[in-house]
Amino acid sequence: MIVKGEFTLVNTLIFGHKNPDTDTIASALVMQDLQKELGNDVEAVRLGEVSDETQFALDYFKVEAPSLLETSVKDREVILVDHNEFQQSADDIADATVTMVVDHHRISNFETAAPLYYRAEPVGCTTTILKKMYEEHNIEIKPEIAGLMISAIISDTLLFKSPTCTEEDIKASEALAKIANVDLNEYGLEMLKAGASVKGKSPEFLLNMDAKSFNMDDKVVRVAQVNTVDVNEVLEIKEDVENEINKIIANEQYDLFVFIITDILNSDSTVIALGKEQQAVEKAFSTKLENNQALLAGVVSRKKQVVPPIDDVLGK
Ligand code: MN
Ligand code: MN
Repeated sequence: MIVKGEFTLVNTLIFGHKNPDTDTIASALVMQDLQKELGNDVEAVRLGEVSDETQFALDYFKVEAPSLLETSVKDREVILVDHNEFQQSADDIADATVTMVVDHHRISNFETAAPLYYRAEPVGCTTTILKKMYEEHNIEIKPEIAGLMISAIISDTLLFKSPTCTEEDIKASEALAKIANVDLNEYGLEMLKAGASVKGKSPEFLLNMDAKSFNMDDKVVRVAQVNTVDVNEVLEIKEDVENEINKIIANEQYDLFVFIITDILNSDSTVIALGKEQQAVEKAFSTKLENNQALLAGVVSRKKQVVPPIDDVLGK
């Protein structure tokens, strides 16, 4: 049964954040499917390159990636998924009309001129919220859509190990796994490993593949993260990585650059921090940086375990 939405969208773009991760790409595609089922005219796009992990999921469930947004969004109607902060969005997002947001992040640096649908829930993944929207509209979830949803949840929660993971994410995944016909742990580990190979990647690539900027009081903090099964593969090229970070700081005027190298098998992270607010990292994690580096035991989530403590130090 198809239930029409209360409003009709025409020529609306759907996208997640810059440096797209699996949730951002999956959520845009899933939202596109949901809105089309509701009779709306929408198109999913992406704001950056598709990662190896995301490509693995797309290939596995035989779904095409959204096309790269190459035009201005000025005066366009847009739906944001998996983000709301304008600095993580399209460059001219302030000139677009945001008609809907579905997200699971803090709300910051976001405002609109007109009323909108805004749905935020403190769950581990955007697709966990989208799954509920299908159910509310009585729309059946297709196997490949279920597969994308599972991939996003596994990615955002690091196979349910991140503290951002909620009971809802786990229940949603179990139900979706039946529809997609996959074994969660087996598929999940395979997908995470596909995205965790850092060998042979340039420092520039590693520092940009999953990086977000955050305004904290009057300072701008860049937090980049890579997942790996072998932290030493990154630390072997630490000098080059640090040179690249310093270049980025100089070019983009960041007050602090935090690079989180997350060990997905042991569920902890090594941090490399540079910039004039470097000491904020020592304070935030009650640690000492040695050669700009420290081990953050048990830390895997940028959103819940990295950004809030640094914001406590640097924010108002
Ligand atoms: Mn995301
Ligand atoms: Mn997400």
